[in-house]
Amino acid sequence: MADTHLMTIPGQVNPVPVARDITPRADGRVDLLGLPKKRITELFADAGLDAKQAKLRAKQVFHWLYHRGETEFSAMTDIGKTMRPWLEERFVVGRPDVVEAQHSSDGTRKWLLRTPDGHDYEMVFIPDADRGTLCISSQVGCTLNCTFCHTGTMRLVRNLTPGEIVGQVMLARDALGEWPKGRMDIAEEEDEAEYRADGRLLTNIVLMGMGEPLYNFDNVRDAMKLVMDGEGLGLSRRRITLSTSGVVPAMARCGDEIGVNLAVSLHAVRKEVRDEIVPLNRKYGIEELLAACAAYPRASNSRRITFEYVMLRDKNDSDDDARELVRLLKKYDLPAKVNLIPFNPWAGAPYECSAPDRIRSFSNIIFEAGISAPVRTPRGRDIDAACGQLKTAAEKKSRAQLRREAEEEAASAPAG
Ligand code: SAH
Ligand code: SF4
Repeated sequence: MADTHLMTIPGQVNPVPVARDITPRADGRVDLLGLPKKRITELFADAGLDAKQAKLRAKQVFHWLYHRGETEFSAMTDIGKTMRPWLEERFVVGRPDVVEAQHSSDGTRKWLLRTPDGHDYEMVFIPDADRGTLCISSQVGCTLNCTFCHTGTMRLVRNLTPGEIVGQVMLARDALGEWPKGRMDIAEEEDEAEYRADGRLLTNIVLMGMGEPLYNFDNVRDAMKLVMDGEGLGLSRRRITLSTSGVVPAMARCGDEIGVNLAVSLHAVRKEVRDEIVPLNRKYGIEELLAACAAYPRASNSRRITFEYVMLRDKNDSDDDARELVRLLKKYDLPAKVNLIPFNPWAGAPYECSAPDRIRSFSNIIFEAGISAPVRTPRGRDIDAACGQLKTAAEKKSRAQLRREAEEEAASAPAG
């Protein structure tokens, strides 16, 4: 296999090359998952449909694919009976392969997924009283090596394709049984109740899983366009948050071309500390990063930028650090909220989590300055539902054990 898309050098602070041809399937059929309507139209035309037919069929298939979550052409009931086998011979609608699915006692769910060329990545679903948040990955591993992050220790890195990114959201909807169920060929009989956007389990998406989304910009943008498309998954940009460790040159593009909420992994307010724990800081420093935040398109009081701050004992958690954080946020006049994340330890990690009263004191200083600073409650601790941790646990299990667990999970998943 031509592995030009793989890189094995950790510590790289430049983007991973994006080029990667879609792995051809053994049966020669083309997977439509992740493709935009325009590309589907081209493929249908290349396969022999005239321009008008190709456009019409692409519109129908697109709707079934992304709005209904249908994976079988035979179930696409408004497409002619002879057309369906024609499509089936040439195309498929795939989903990421599930290696392992876990369910925490607090409702958090975690999936370990595998690419067709054998790389593992993960996603987590976190249900809350008023929302359900899906945390998705943008890369296998990460080149950036933040010292507190387990993903950064993984040697193998590859960008996920748009299909592998949007496929996570679609797989989650499959597992949660959340696709609209009405039949599209009898519109007047459709039950409106089944199309409501509220009452859904999956209401929000955060790009906070494995990888640096702004180092896989084009694929993340193309996948999010399908998620935000009203004829596609139809999720509002206001419900999507992209988290970056601070890839300054890509931030304005992110606002302009994707337009989602921004979260910035700040984690430290002093150069020497941030240089150590977020090495990208040596390339794009704190002041430069905050200036880019101030210029972020669409940032406003109603759409504040989230600053993530992982609490590391005796490293970045003093009252002075909290005061410096306030000073910086005020200096740049940022519409900001601060998310304090208790450090989630992993085997061999060089840090410990700050003590609860230290975190409280840190939070209070920020709060008293008029900036919201909630402490993120750890979720799914019993299944290691933090970045980059399921993969390690899974590597220790036998293949047979993993298969058994995946089968059990599939059997217990809700229908639909
Ligand atoms: N690469 C992007 C997005 C993925 S990381 C970024 O760095 O922002 C998502 C968030 O999880 C980041 O804020 C990251 O710093 C945090 N994180 C990573 N490892 C962690 C750990 N062990 N404990 C707590 N938070 C962690
Ligand atoms: Fe990469 Fe984000 Fe982890 Fe840093 S915190 S190594 S940028 S995934």
